[in-house]
Amino acid sequence: VGEWTDGAWSKGELRPYGPLAMMPSAQVLNYGQAAFEGMKAQRSAKGRIVLFRPDRNAARLAAGAARLSMPAVPEDVFVSAVEQTVRANEEFVPPVGKGSLYIRPLLMGSGPILGLGPAPSYTFAVYAAAVGSYFKSGQLTPIDLVVEEHFHRAAPRGMGGTKAAGNYSPVLVTQLAAKGKGYSDVVYLDAKSDTYLEEVSSCNIFAVKGRTIRTPPLAGSILPGVTRASVIELARSRGYEVKEEPIAVTEAMEADEMFTTGTAVVVSPVGSLTYKGERRQYGKPGEPTPVGLEIYTALTRLQTEQDPDPFGWVHPVV
Ligand code: PMP
Repeated sequence: VGEWTDGAWSKGELRPYGPLAMMPSAQVLNYGQAAFEGMKAQRSAKGRIVLFRPDRNAARLAAGAARLSMPAVPEDVFVSAVEQTVRANEEFVPPVGKGSLYIRPLLMGSGPILGLGPAPSYTFAVYAAAVGSYFKSGQLTPIDLVVEEHFHRAAPRGMGGTKAAGNYSPVLVTQLAAKGKGYSDVVYLDAKSDTYLEEVSSCNIFAVKGRTIRTPPLAGSILPGVTRASVIELARSRGYEVKEEPIAVTEAMEADEMFTTGTAVVVSPVGSLTYKGERRQYGKPGEPTPVGLEIYTALTRLQTEQDPDPFGWVHPVV
């Protein structure tokens, strides 16, 4: 935990997991001045504990901080805080292939303010928890998605491109309704035309047709996923043509396969997509589709140092 007061960050300190004290008038509790990151530390085949591209998370949080009028956490401070958290929780990092230590860096306007304005002081906290696969069905069991027809996730020129805390409570109502109907999650459409896929509540989306892989372009309303950027490079290095271009729902329904990407979901094959009551099944029920499986395998082998890392993405901590 570190504090920003009088224009500078304090030297952070390691504390046992526990409450943070804040006034009821804390900016973040009233006006939502907060952004966060999601990262994973994993044990690798070389016997180390490694992070994946932490510089990317530092840069994304800095961009979110600028958008929310918060002081940036410098990259070296960010990475060092994450490394210290991993070292302090080394015993909780699961064995190779058995899960990971999820890490949550959180930056917020914790100081009190009554009228609308930026907080007078800020807290940067990093906490961690051991996790298994994100979807209850397991990592490689294809997920069932439904296109959300009522709400949008992000407005044009809004906050969708940042990991602002406030982006996430509006998706609960759609996600819970979809889960109640047996779906794993929802896919959002663009707010301008209701035609093109944007992303899922917590991951980016890709469509595969032959040797071409497409993912929606980052037009400001989609979160620039670290996994998304990595999968684009990885797929190109494996000979796929990857295009960042709009994907109409009707095209998604005609794709050979779909998969989603994110730190939490890794690469999750999509088993079905439902739109206006019509359900499209991809591949054989219950089995991961081939390109999704190939990319999942290549990415996780690289991340856990089972394969070489020609990109320099793996960041050893221990
Ligand atoms: N979209 C949203 C809305 C997310 O919350 C996340 C998770 N951070 C992603 C996409 C995937 O981003 P990343 O690959 O950096 O985890």
